Amino acid sequence: MLNSVIFGAPGSGKGTQSERIVEKYGITHISTGDVLRAEIKKGTELGKTAQGYIDQGQLIPDRLMIDILGNVLDGIKESKGVIFDGFPRTITQAEALEKLLAERGQEVAVMIDLEVPEEVLITRLINRGKQTGRADDNEETIKKRLQVYHTQTYPLIEWYKEKQKHHVVKGYGELDDILADICSIIDTTRK
Ligand code: ATP
Ligand code: MG
Repeated sequence: MLNSVIFGAPGSGKGTQSERIVEKYGITHISTGDVLRAEIKKGTELGKTAQGYIDQGQLIPDRLMIDILGNVLDGIKESKGVIFDGFPRTITQAEALEKLLAERGQEVAVMIDLEVPEEVLITRLINRGKQTGRADDNEETIKKRLQVYHTQTYPLIEWYKEKQKHHVVKGYGELDDILADICSIIDTTRK
């Protein structure tokens, strides 16, 4: 069982690399952003609530987000492990994840931190907005999301460092090189 957290600022490539990791290791991908966007698309109450926060570039409140994640975990039958993409985003969420996994006799093995310069992030997100029409990928909301990242999410780096689970990967350059760096961390941890 290998549970890992893929971490990084908005646009750092968490989703892109997660897809490749899933393909290689056959583990389960949980993207909280994808879960929320699916709810929005279905037009559920949860989706309506989530949309209000996402459009403002804000995080969904911890209590709600932790409940959602608990439900997703309950829905997993058999798994070789999970890659958590977009969760945790606050210290409270990290503590909750620890507890949710401990209840299932598991833990996070590694946290992989995709490091990307801010100007690269902004360019990527603006391009993604143009290509996909994703509503929160506009200049104003991107700025807010980066601020939220710095104040609420960035402190998790120290939190995982204290647990000796933090690993940095250079998150720009060739996609294959980034993947190779991530895989070498995962492979070392599995041994
Ligand atoms: P990336 O481009 O690296 O995949 P992202 O930040 O662009 O990352 P998502 O992870 O898809 O995008 O998240 C989109 C939005 O969904 C966030 O800005 C936030 O409002 C909400 N969200 C997703 N995960 C969480 C979470 N764990 N806690 C609170 N809000 C969340
Ligand atoms: Mg994503």
